[in-house]
Amino acid sequence: MKNKIWLSSPHMGGEELKYIQEAFDTNWVAPLGPNVTNFEDDLKKYLNRDSNIAALSSGTAALHIALILSGVKREDEVICQSMTFSASANPIAYQGATPIFVDSEQDTWNMCPKYLEKAILDRISKGKKPKAIIVVHLYGMPAKMDVITEIAQKYGIILIEDAAEALGSKYKGQKCGTFGDFGILSFNGNKIITTSGGGALVCKTKEMKEKAIFLATQARDEAPHYQHSQIGYNYRMSNVLAGIGRGQMEVLDLHIELRRQMHQFYKELFNGIKGIKIFEEPNKDFFSNHWLSCVLIDKEVAGFSSEDLRLVLLNNNIESRPLWKPMHLQPVFKEVPYYGEKVAEELFNRGLCLPSGSNLTTQDRNRIESVIQDFISSRTN
Ligand SMILES: *Cc1c(COP(=O)(O)O)cnc(C)c1O
Repeated sequence: MKNKIWLSSPHMGGEELKYIQEAFDTNWVAPLGPNVTNFEDDLKKYLNRDSNIAALSSGTAALHIALILSGVKREDEVICQSMTFSASANPIAYQGATPIFVDSEQDTWNMCPKYLEKAILDRISKGKKPKAIIVVHLYGMPAKMDVITEIAQKYGIILIEDAAEALGSKYKGQKCGTFGDFGILSFNGNKIITTSGGGALVCKTKEMKEKAIFLATQARDEAPHYQHSQIGYNYRMSNVLAGIGRGQMEVLDLHIELRRQMHQFYKELFNGIKGIKIFEEPNKDFFSNHWLSCVLIDKEVAGFSSEDLRLVLLNNNIESRPLWKPMHLQPVFKEVPYYGEKVAEELFNRGLCLPSGSNLTTQDRNRIESVIQDFISSRTN
């Protein structure tokens, strides 16, 4: 069997071990230290804004802290994009609050502004104004942040941007993660850069960042002994892992370029093939890091389904995956209110994520190309 081609696997740049070595040499083997501080500075410079970054143990932890800082409590409601990874919605449940799911729109696959506003108005009419909105930049594609921000401001609701998949993506020239009251990033193993596991919270002010770090380090009050006046968490990033992050920051733009080349590769591969549509930027306002390249397959026209293609790839040891199954269709959230139609559901039924790693070789690409071409010609003959 040929080597496995993964959907998205870690891709080291080369300098990561140097920073890890530094952590060992100076004995900063702890959830604080110079790598953590420097990694935060690197991210701040990269996002190119007055952003205040707290490096945390995961993107999920960052979302949880963002909700706490937004004042989300038991029995509150939080609006969340339905089409996303469950980590976008789970922290709402950690707080004992209820998610309110909203459908996607066709062009960006992200939160539909029309249904967002409908959801807000309906929740207000039922007696509860949502405490926060979680919008996601799916697969690196920016959501329409100008319209979404306008709606959040119109109703005075805190906006949290889940940019876990969108580090380096831009909307109208501004980096994703810097629009909302809070932004969150993830450095999990499958993301565009990784610290093996890790995340960050992007805050608007230094005070918010300090509050985030306070909560993420067990909420210790100022005192020589351990004194606590609220519940804390153990969510800070390890200084060893932040060393990986510093090395990865050196190759982030290169990784984005390579992921975008993978997108271009699929665009050419599927060019002219009926019933297959590649997921791409709607217009020049959008710059996607193309974390994952995705296609929609119309079975009636193409003669095969996304699942047929997935199985052919699997038989050739090539990993691909259906799109995120919308949260309102998940058994765990079956009682939760939903606003929308069937856009997210249709995308889920027809979509497929293809191998997109920045470390795929020409050989890998040739293999993907011949498997897909052979399959398509066998289906259309
Ligand atoms: C990966 C991911 C997260 C969670 O990040 P972790 O670092 O894995 O906790 C949250 N939201 C989205 C959309 C993600 O893809």
